[in-house]
Amino acid sequence: MYHVQARSAVADIDQYVNVPAMSTEPRVIPIACPFGQTGGIVYVYYIDAPQPALIDTGVAASPGTTIEPALNAAGVSLKDVRWILATHGHWDHIGGAHAARSMAADGVSLALHSADAPLLQSRRAHMQPDGYQALRFRYLDDMSALAQQDALLMQNLSGELAADRELHGGERISLGGDVSVEVVHTPGHSPGSATFVLSGLDWAFTGDGVQVCGGGPAGFPLYVDPIAYGAAQKRLLDDVRPTRLHMGHRFRALGGSVLESVLDGPQVEKALRDSLAMHERVVAATRAVVTLDVSEPKATALQPAAEALGVTGAPPTWPPAACWCGRLASAPS
Ligand SMILES: [Zn+2]
Ligand SMILES: [Zn+2]
Repeated sequence: MYHVQARSAVADIDQYVNVPAMSTEPRVIPIACPFGQTGGIVYVYYIDAPQPALIDTGVAASPGTTIEPALNAAGVSLKDVRWILATHGHWDHIGGAHAARSMAADGVSLALHSADAPLLQSRRAHMQPDGYQALRFRYLDDMSALAQQDALLMQNLSGELAADRELHGGERISLGGDVSVEVVHTPGHSPGSATFVLSGLDWAFTGDGVQVCGGGPAGFPLYVDPIAYGAAQKRLLDDVRPTRLHMGHRFRALGGSVLESVLDGPQVEKALRDSLAMHERVVAATRAVVTLDVSEPKATALQPAAEALGVTGAPPTWPPAACWCGRLASAPS
């Protein structure tokens, strides 16, 4: 029987089937890009393949001021980049997308999961009242901080554009020769968070999809869908089983130390197990919060969760559970 299968419009994105092990390890260049006003660093990665790929782009200024000089120092250039693979649509990761795309090779393809595509297409999508930026300031009742954050976003997003390829998970993207990446949908931190996995080597680029204890001093992961986030940690731990992790930030470990952005060997499984364990602690603490009105969130309602997690600081250091208390309350245990 002749079997006709729906195919993507582009031949180099195929469903993942029997990918052979890679004969050579492509060089991966990590680039630390400063962003924001509090000393934040986001890591982007250049994969030196026949069709070079850039994983994430930093903020608007990053391609010109940080990424290109770092690549030049390594003997390559943004001009060589044929693929821009965005792990998700948050401003610290795709803010530089427009700038990077305009500096890259002719025919460059920017790929992003479809669920985060609105964040690439519209600056306003980052500022939705129930979006990832706004809720934290709403529950703190700090409208001036929210206005400042909006201004920061406008500065840090280099332009509005459509993805050349919208991803759904399960695709394989050829980077030429025998180098390819598989796309694994790992939502939770954002709806369209994706992990790119180098086929054969099982090196994973997770963006903010795995955060262990998060990037901030409070020591909490940030996510908008707790159920999806927990499932993504399990999927990475049990099914994907990466041998190397390339993360978007230097996240905190369970003991409070700060992890490197690239983890190798036994550190990978430990980070994934700890990430799942931390998630379960936060879920348990948040289930104790029964009084949060998600339409009118207030920080004080999160005090029981903060106490259960042993957090003693001011409300801004409490768990960002306002984003998802309502979703947890309605989700099965
Ligand atoms: Zn993020
Ligand atoms: Zn980030």
